[in-house]
Amino acid sequence: MTVALVTGVAGQDGSYLAERLVAEGATVHGLVREGEHPAGLPGEVRLHTGDLGDAEGLAALVRRTAPDEVYNLGGISSVAYSWQHPVETAAVTGLGAVALYEAAWRLQEEAGRPVRVLQASSAEIFGTPDRTPQDERTALGPTSPYGAAKAYAHQLAAVYRARGLGVSSCVLYNHESPRRPETFVTRKITAAAARIARQGSGTLALGNLDARRDWGWAPDYVDAMVRAVRHPVADDFVVASGTSRSVADFVAAAFAAAGVDDWGRHVTVDPRFVRPADPAEQVGDPRRARAELGWPGTLAFEEIVGRMVRHDLALLPS
Ligand code: GDP
Repeated sequence: MTVALVTGVAGQDGSYLAERLVAEGATVHGLVREGEHPAGLPGEVRLHTGDLGDAEGLAALVRRTAPDEVYNLGGISSVAYSWQHPVETAAVTGLGAVALYEAAWRLQEEAGRPVRVLQASSAEIFGTPDRTPQDERTALGPTSPYGAAKAYAHQLAAVYRARGLGVSSCVLYNHESPRRPETFVTRKITAAAARIARQGSGTLALGNLDARRDWGWAPDYVDAMVRAVRHPVADDFVVASGTSRSVADFVAAAFAAAGVDDWGRHVTVDPRFVRPADPAEQVGDPRRARAELGWPGTLAFEEIVGRMVRHDLALLPS
């Protein structure tokens, strides 16, 4: 039976992954931070308190749990947060990943059996990319503290691969669900659209409405990660829908799904939400993931927006 260790198990992707692995009958160990009490995780998940910034603690946890599969989904998950906390981002998102590769490599050496690792990387490693769409050969050029930390972890994945560890790096484009916190623009928009639809009034303050992102459905991206970690040849895989939409497109779709047709009356631009640097467009080419992993792709944009809006409407008192 598979033993899996999941960092970031309390987050959006971690919770979907834990549900999937438990349903498969795997033993799932999850890393949570001190004081974090994830609600809604399957009771079978064995929670361990620790910190990705603590390399020795991570090494001990990997030795103790002896996983076959390690999923590194933990770390600072938001670009916006990383601008406020760049040093913490480097320690947790950058060095934390390397500490995990090192611990997995040592376990593999000592146990004499393969330990496979999945690094949840990000489109932010490309920064302002030199080509569209981006693929596994696109040059790295991060423009945020988050992107730079993820780029370092992505490069170290290749270094450990060359050293004999089966570590795959999934370069994940934005992937959303009702489990996204409102620090991400999608959930902020769907929650506001639902609230404004219900109240008949209200405003939503946003930053850059012209930024274009490649949005997919989080459970589909978790599926790609499981396929990647189990693929016989560890590699880098871009996981994306292959099309981009603007933040304004997302707003229009969300307000339409909530039944509000004049979204322009409700949205204001607030410089506080405009970032010091913000890639104008990100769009990934998922052809390698589709061909090598048999990944079926992700839900259509309108379906993603519709599911999130319906969820947020259902949360409100009627
Ligand atoms: P990210 O791509 O991982 O940073 O995901 P986000 O959902 O945080 O941001 C996606 C895009 O939405 C970026 O280009 C942001 O600059 C843009 N954006 C515009 N307004 C907002 C806002 O109010 N909040 C956030 N989080 N992003 C915004």
